Amino acid sequence: MKTKQTTDRYTLADLENWASVASKADPPVRLGLFGDPVAHSLSPQMQNAALQASQIDMQYARFNIRSNELRSALLLLRELDFVGINLTVPHKVAALALIDEADEHSRRIGAINTIRFAHQKMIGSTTDGEGFLRAIRSEFSVDVRDLRVMILGAGGGTGRAIAWQCALENCERLVLVNRTLEKAKGLAEKLRPFFAGPRVLGPVARLAAVSLEEAALRAQMADIDLIVNATPVGMNASDSSPIPARLIAPHHFVFDAVYGASKTPLLRAVDEAGARGANGLSMLLHQGALAFQTWFGREAPIEAMRKAL
Ligand code: NAP
Repeated sequence: MKTKQTTDRYTLADLENWASVASKADPPVRLGLFGDPVAHSLSPQMQNAALQASQIDMQYARFNIRSNELRSALLLLRELDFVGINLTVPHKVAALALIDEADEHSRRIGAINTIRFAHQKMIGSTTDGEGFLRAIRSEFSVDVRDLRVMILGAGGGTGRAIAWQCALENCERLVLVNRTLEKAKGLAEKLRPFFAGPRVLGPVARLAAVSLEEAALRAQMADIDLIVNATPVGMNASDSSPIPARLIAPHHFVFDAVYGASKTPLLRAVDEAGARGANGLSMLLHQGALAFQTWFGREAPIEAMRKAL
């Protein structure tokens, strides 16, 4: 199959002029990722490998779409011959209000990362939670249900999806951390029924919401097994770790949903603390495979996707 990438990324202006812009793409662009920033994303190389391995004659592209452009961009896509898209920072929560249908799971979470276009309708779902579970299993050979989990950035689209998944798995304990504490508290209220059952944990609560401050985090760390970074902190080369190395202990598993060519600042802190860490590549792989399945109704060629990453 011939694959000619016409540009590194498209914009809303390109979508407005799609007939002439898209005529240059061969095979045609019928899938993509909306985000801002989006240049860092490895989804195109992974999904394009899946399309080629499955002999599907289309390509997946990046779209740099700003928050205030999301509505217009989605409406344009609905008129064009797209199969679907993924959504990343900062669109996962906002997109839910703009689509025609969403499954119950996404509505409860309040965020989507995948849209399928069918009969002029935008149908939303999320594959982040299940992708996260599979990633934790493959990276650390443990199941989330046996863990006491702390989520940094629990107020964001990814953090919420991961928190719901942990609750559905009935994990041992869940600590929701967010810069804006009110969002973590609101989520904790929704998840409370999942943590009503008895588990012998000593004096600590099974479900807690705390702010992203060192003293508040320190009080939790002895009763945590898995720390998850679901904030975008670490995406920029100049970022520091979302939590200092001195808070991390050797018994912690640390999963950074951020991924990149080199170690993220959080994973450097993990090394310093002598703990075990993994970046977000395995989650990217599994959430992407589930999105492919949503669009095409068939198993994704996961080995081709893994190889492309
Ligand atoms: P989002 O919806 O914009 O949420 C961002 C979250 O991070 C919010 O809770 C926000 O807190 C917090 N946050 C933002 N900037 C912060 C800062 N400077 N300091 C502390 N907290 C901050 O983003 P998202 O779509 O969930 O994505 C989050 C990250 O996960 C991104 O890096 C994305 O690439 C990554 N991700 C990776 C995968 C994968 O497959 N590996 C999948 C999905 C997402 P407030 O509520 O206080 O604003």
